[in-house]
Amino acid sequence: MLDFYYSTMRGGKSTALLQRRHNLLSIGKRVLVLTSALDDRFEVGKVTSRMGPQCDAQVFHRETVFAMSAAFVNIDEVMIDEAQFLTSDQVQQIHQNLCAGQDLRVSCFGLRSTFQGRPFEGAAWLLALADALHEISTLCGCGSKATLNQRVDGSGMPVRQGPELEIGGDTRYRPVCPKCFYEA
Ligand SMILES: [Zn+2]
Repeated sequence: MLDFYYSTMRGGKSTALLQRRHNLLSIGKRVLVLTSALDDRFEVGKVTSRMGPQCDAQVFHRETVFAMSAAFVNIDEVMIDEAQFLTSDQVQQIHQNLCAGQDLRVSCFGLRSTFQGRPFEGAAWLLALADALHEISTLCGCGSKATLNQRVDGSGMPVRQGPELEIGGDTRYRPVCPKCFYEA
């Protein structure tokens, strides 16, 4: 079974992952947590929540191949943070080799779109292939539901151009509704 939990930046997806992990561990399940090597906001190989708790994670790279291996033996659920950074091939490998092939449950947590409102490759494939989609909802500053990620500069002004991935962390992003996104 493949699940995709999606939210905006600062929308609570890492908190949701940590909460689910805590829940699984409390009922005796064995969990493997993975996160992207691209996410170095805190420290490579950690899932961290603004709420405080954190856990160690193994990292995946763009070259990681998701096939049945020793890493997945005796695991009840694989949890993948920053899943928007998976490639299309990796999402297909997870879907075919781990979920369908080995009956593993894989829960992916990530963003849907870039700061320019374009789909992340991993998110597009997860939206297409996941057995279940779970929205983690958050609010725009205007009170409407936030569905997009706005990048802002050091003085809080919206930025529309630049590389997809910016080092500097999530203080440079703000969850916004479509109206506020396009007005900026
Ligand atoms: Zn708004």
